Amino acid sequence: MPVLSGEITLPGFVDPHVHLREPSNNTAETIASGTRAALLGGYVLIGDMPNNPGHPTWSEQRMLEKHKISTDTSYIPVTFHAGSQPESDNVGELAKMAQQSLWLKLYGAPTTGNANDYEASDFREIASEWHRVAQDKPIGLHAGKNNLEDMIALIAGELGHHLHIHHVNSSQEVETISQAKDRGWAVTSGVCPHHLLKTSHDVRSEGWFARMQPPLASQTESEELMRHLANGSIDIVETDHAPHSSDSKLKAEQDNPEGIHEAGHTTCFGVPGIEFAAPLMFYQARRGHISFERVIDAMSTKPAEILGVSIGKNTHVHWNMREYRIGHDDDSRSNSLWTPYLGKMALGVVNALDIRGRRLVSAEEIVAQYPQVITSRETVI
Ligand SMILES: [Zn+2]
Repeated sequence: MPVLSGEITLPGFVDPHVHLREPSNNTAETIASGTRAALLGGYVLIGDMPNNPGHPTWSEQRMLEKHKISTDTSYIPVTFHAGSQPESDNVGELAKMAQQSLWLKLYGAPTTGNANDYEASDFREIASEWHRVAQDKPIGLHAGKNNLEDMIALIAGELGHHLHIHHVNSSQEVETISQAKDRGWAVTSGVCPHHLLKTSHDVRSEGWFARMQPPLASQTESEELMRHLANGSIDIVETDHAPHSSDSKLKAEQDNPEGIHEAGHTTCFGVPGIEFAAPLMFYQARRGHISFERVIDAMSTKPAEILGVSIGKNTHVHWNMREYRIGHDDDSRSNSLWTPYLGKMALGVVNALDIRGRRLVSAEEIVAQYPQVITSRETVI
């Protein structure tokens, strides 16, 4: 059992679920600012989601636009996920995008402008094409209320393709996923720190600053989710780092305090969080809610394995395992300049970080950048 104090060295962390927002109508984050936050949070590879507001990654051209910005400005290696929706009419782009990415993200619930949940059959052509052109590159799913089972049956069952279920927020979803795993289907899942450490009650006092999709769960359910993560029923921790400015959150609170999720109502779902994910989870390990080994597995080994990459021995993080309470908003390193974890206990600060032997953080300060776009499995970071 590693000692959770003093200086410890761990492998770099990996998160396949981040929204860097650039380029898009949401300017609360950039590829530079988001990867900077990730670096200071102990990450060495993150996966950027395709649903950039007003500028979704639905073509090779859009994908390469992100690659260019990343090559010029990113602090750490990034992989950019392809997107395809029933409304995007881009099945013809998938073969080209598959060459440039490691992942296809599907939204079965309203997040890309669609008003209702989709049926699994709406994704048949898209999923079949991705399976044809990118057999070993996972499909990630933001499930709708009633399409999880059917999506699993279609993608993991019928096509035999690896399906990753993003941000589970109920034990019922975990149960459905466990049943698919028992059948030998390639299904994995991730949970977000906010679903483990915040609860639906927080919406009463934090309003839109505590609203995301899927929503926060009850206290009982969030405790269940932590147990499922601790015993491995949930595979990984993913942050769903989804920055919005305080002004955008406030506007939604003023325009739509009841949080009505319908066309014609101002909405602003999502919270930042990659900068504090590891320290929050280390603190949970210290408190005995999950083993320290399982935190490493869920935030480094397993997500790397799912993406098909590995973390080399010259890529590691020296953590100073000091305990602290997450302070004022300006402690947050995301460009959104606020954090949903204000006041929460955390353990660990990145003292130094190396990628392939190059030192990027020294004495808690960033000293270099390592921009690289990852497009092929088998890459050693
Ligand atoms: Zn997301």
